[in-house]
Amino acid sequence: MTERVYEVVIIGSGAGGGTVAQALAPMVRDGVRILVLEKGPRLADGEFTGREMEMATALYEDGGGFLTADGTMTLAFACTYGGSTVVYTGTSLTAPERVVRHWNVPGLDHADVVRRSEKYLRENNVHLLGPDALNDNNRLFVEGGRRAGYHVEQFPVNVKGCRGSSFCNLGCPNQAKQGTNRVQLPAAERDGVEVVTRAEVLRIEVDRSVVVRVGEKPAGGKGAPSEWAPGDYRVRGKIVVSAGGAIGSPALLLRSPLPTPRCLGDGFTCHPALILVAEHPRAITNDVGHPKSFFVDRGAEERFVLETCMYFPFTTAKAITGFGAAHSAMVRAFPRLQMILVLACDHATPGNRITADAAGKPVVHYRFTPETVDGLVRGTVASAKIFFAAGALRVHAPFADPPLIDARDAARVEALITTRHWRPGKTTVSAAHLMGGCGMGRSAADSVTDVWGRVHGIPWLRVADASLFPDSLEINPYVTIMALADRVAEGIREDARELLA
Ligand SMILES: Cc1cc2nc3c(=O)[nH]c(=O)nc-3n(C[C@H](O)[C@H](O)[C@H](O)COP(=O)(O)OP(=O)(O)OC[C@H]3O[C@@H](n4cnc5c(N)ncnc54)[C@H](O)[C@@H]3O)c2cc1C
Ligand code: SF4
Repeated sequence: MTERVYEVVIIGSGAGGGTVAQALAPMVRDGVRILVLEKGPRLADGEFTGREMEMATALYEDGGGFLTADGTMTLAFACTYGGSTVVYTGTSLTAPERVVRHWNVPGLDHADVVRRSEKYLRENNVHLLGPDALNDNNRLFVEGGRRAGYHVEQFPVNVKGCRGSSFCNLGCPNQAKQGTNRVQLPAAERDGVEVVTRAEVLRIEVDRSVVVRVGEKPAGGKGAPSEWAPGDYRVRGKIVVSAGGAIGSPALLLRSPLPTPRCLGDGFTCHPALILVAEHPRAITNDVGHPKSFFVDRGAEERFVLETCMYFPFTTAKAITGFGAAHSAMVRAFPRLQMILVLACDHATPGNRITADAAGKPVVHYRFTPETVDGLVRGTVASAKIFFAAGALRVHAPFADPPLIDARDAARVEALITTRHWRPGKTTVSAAHLMGGCGMGRSAADSVTDVWGRVHGIPWLRVADASLFPDSLEINPYVTIMALADRVAEGIREDARELLA
């Protein structure tokens, strides 16, 4: 096994890892060697083609279809230079005050989260798109939402030179989306941080070293070969930061021979989501333009958030229940489809957790609580009202039987869409806001880390990603992940003298 020595080893290059890398980069000038190890490949700009099957395979873990243990939900998360920021849509919201208060983490103050978030909102060019950049799918959501009595808000997004190609979730082919792959990681590399891709950390040892396997570039695969020769490495570090995401970090710590707190892996939440479609009488612009510009937040009152969305043909077909002629007719109506994403605001629940199997691979245990199902159903009812208020002819609602509701039944959606029709494993539910597993808190009795991402009892080991959330955020999470990672970096700078000695 080849040996390498660094002072700081960061595992994962997504919203959390990329942020820590950039925030610590000035230490390189003082002779501190900083390494980022990323399991996925580094793609060249020209390799982002926007082709659905090709990009899903190249960027996502399990092509975006990672299944929970009982097979009732798929989880989407990326595995590439920049992590899931490469495939996110770039909607940029700041943590609500009520959520941070509910988290009740000693020392975590909402004003501090806001202050740090604002730094990244500026740095990643977050702003509201002008009216010219909005397509019919977004306009219909605004019109229908207001007519149906909802408070519709515009999403700030982090784009620069967006050309409205709508491929955000397949990696932006126009380099417009300002993820960590475009902002934080290149800045860190310019300052001398080393990023090694195709480098999977197998475990972290108690002597602060990490065992890494660097893979070959597969024949015909996308991305550059690794910066290191393929093989196994032992990287000796003094500070290790786990930023592998809400699935990657808990699984890595669970398979590592470390005295970690017993609640490691607990508290997994994910905003389970449904893609809903409705058919309009005429073609609308839906797959051209920025896909996600507006939302309705009913998290506090009814446990759901609605977002405009536009998914690609395969993903859309998968979201529509049923088979045969009715299913085919709906998919063929693609140019006339309006889409809304319903996200349920789930909560940390005993049993919903990450474990590692005998090979150390992550296993996600997730049971839908009645409250989560209720959030999905209420969100579906609200979406149906918005679709019809916007002029849709038919709405596809998986919580109705039959699932197609005609406009003449628009007044009856509350009676037709009910939890009675919930069939776990039959209704297509997916999630992309993966949170928890290494939650922050008071002590090892109730949490994995403290408010600085320090793993209780292991001061040299830090966590800096979405796994830090003690419960769900109830809004889109990347800005808050960056804000928390910024805190983690500050804690490392403060402890550096002692830890690097
Ligand atoms: C399709 C999609 C759309 C989204 N849209 C939005 C949005 O519009 N707004 C928003 O706020 N959020 C959005 N999100 C969520 C957001 O992208 C994530 O919450 C965020 O990127 C998570 O940050 P992270 O650092 O926890 O993990 P990630 O960004 O997922 O990064 C983790 C990285 O660690 C690497 N890794 C894991 N284990 C190891 C290991 N053992 N060794 C080496 N490397 C490892 C992974 O390969 C990955 O690259 C979206 C997510 C998806 C999937
Ligand atoms: S809509 Fe804009 S940000 Fe999204 S993929 Fe197209 S150019 Fe990139």
